[in-house]
Amino acid sequence: MTSEFDLIGHIRSRVRTRDNVVLGIGDDAALLRVPPGHDLVVAMDTMNVGVHFPPDTDAASIGWKALAVNLSDLAAMGAQPTWCTLSLSLPESNAAWLDGFLDGFLALATQHDCALVGGDTTRGPLSICVTVHGLVPHGTALRRSGAQVGDDVWVTGTLGDAAVALAEWQRQSREALLHHSREDGNAGATALRHSLERANPASSSTLRHRLDRPTPRVEIGLALRNVATACIDLSDGLVQDLGHLLAASRVGALLDVGAIPGTAPRDARLAGGDDYELCFTAPPAHRDHLAALATRIGHIDAQPGLRLNDATPPPRGWDHFR
Ligand code: ADP
Ligand code: MG
Repeated sequence: MTSEFDLIGHIRSRVRTRDNVVLGIGDDAALLRVPPGHDLVVAMDTMNVGVHFPPDTDAASIGWKALAVNLSDLAAMGAQPTWCTLSLSLPESNAAWLDGFLDGFLALATQHDCALVGGDTTRGPLSICVTVHGLVPHGTALRRSGAQVGDDVWVTGTLGDAAVALAEWQRQSREALLHHSREDGNAGATALRHSLERANPASSSTLRHRLDRPTPRVEIGLALRNVATACIDLSDGLVQDLGHLLAASRVGALLDVGAIPGTAPRDARLAGGDDYELCFTAPPAHRDHLAALATRIGHIDAQPGLRLNDATPPPRGWDHFR
């Protein structure tokens, strides 16, 4: 059994520092220096087992996704990631699991030069809470509230893939559960796990990879400073998240459903969660150079609310408490 301090020591031995970290892991708190002329951008997101990722998700993917969903929030603000903190609640002190988790977490942290500077380690149901810090030059942060009538609506990447992967995982779980419901105790549980692993090898499925290893659109967020009028990242589905942007901007939008990128069915592209793509608005003058970064799916108008050009009502997005 490894102690809390062994676990923290191990984390500390694997992290890299960067500029403006005056003091990282090891004291009561970290000391960070915000360079002159910049605003500090802070975001936090929690991931709970069974709610934010399927229980069979590998440790490295959990580590990756815990940081990715947070970096996605910084991307949506147009911020350059700099530092992060990590609160880990673990059911047991498992050094091998922690190492796998850190493989995923630190691979993405290194990609974005985001230094892990502190955190907390406790015992409890598996839950990961990450805080990210980033920088923007004064006055250049992207917000949800700036969309203007006449702007185009854009999204990055493809939408709905993660929702399709999640639905497939749920279908396979139900099937495996039915199949093994007559076997007892541990033998049944082990057989269930094995058949899930066979049916769903995480690495062999591109869609599952979209669910487990989202790509935060940090570079695109930076390119949108002084270009986008409003921006939000898509965690709960396009309809719901764009709805937040429209409400904050006090405008409406008309979307061309057929233009929403991806191979997933209509409702998954419109309302599937967990994509971590960016949705933003920009004046038509930027069309030509934005076409290399994103897909244009509609435009902003003055009538509040979201309208679709195919006359079918929009599906609803994800709500934890509904
Ligand atoms: P304290 O009791 O003063 O809150 P801790 O023993 O919780 O301190 O943590 C000691 C040091 O290790 C602190 O610098 C803290 O930020 C860091 N730390 C603890 N857990 C983690 C973690 N999961 N990831 C990164 N740093 C951590
Ligand atoms: Mg202390």
